[in-house]
Amino acid sequence: MGEITENLKAIEGRMAQAALRAGRDPKEVRLVAVSKTKPAAAIAEAYSCGQRIFGENYVQELVGKVDELPEGICWHFIGNLQSNKVRQIAGKVELIHSVDRASLAKEIDRQWGALGRVCEILIQVNISREETKGGTSSEELIDLVREVAQLPHVKIVGLMTMPPFFDEPELARPFFRKLRELSEEVAGARIEGVEMRELSMGMSGDFEAAIEEGATLVRVGSALFGERQYH
Ligand SMILES: *Cc1c(COP(=O)(O)O)cnc(C)c1O
Repeated sequence: MGEITENLKAIEGRMAQAALRAGRDPKEVRLVAVSKTKPAAAIAEAYSCGQRIFGENYVQELVGKVDELPEGICWHFIGNLQSNKVRQIAGKVELIHSVDRASLAKEIDRQWGALGRVCEILIQVNISREETKGGTSSEELIDLVREVAQLPHVKIVGLMTMPPFFDEPELARPFFRKLRELSEEVAGARIEGVEMRELSMGMSGDFEAAIEEGATLVRVGSALFGERQYH
């Protein structure tokens, strides 16, 4: 058994245990295999074990991999996205996790509209207000949701967050809880066309705490594919 195969089994087991601890159905939680900087062969190994959702951060890299890898893969875009690059990924990804401003949502609307399709998105919230991270503030979230909800070719299906980096997963837990509370507030506002069915939170170091707090999508990279090397 290859290393990625072993890691995948272990992560799936830990995900299921975390869901059960929280009284949740493990099927409610899906793994986004974060494959940025990793070669197509690594993705192919995980795919051969049944993994279907892969998350990428860079437009160029994503576009190359889409052409190279099986059509059955469900690609998610999870990184910072510049409006002038949206056209390159239009129709190629099934979910964008990182929408944090109306101008970006409008460009997604324009590009998916040109294909006659609707793009599902999550609104990224920067709960910790770290300047180096994307995301709208908690305070501006509801106004942004209302504005984006009016776009005909964009559908908001949930929220995403990335807490500050901690060595200790328990320190990330309050940020996960806050995201769930925000999603309940948005759901309570009953904005037409908006669904709050996804909470994208939790990474290699803290996905179990995120699942216990309600995550439906966990984004796991290094625990699955090994440490990343940037050149
Ligand atoms: C890289 C990345 C991840 C995965 O991080 P790991 O710690 O390697 O699991 C998750 N989410 C986002 C937005 C990322 O950029």
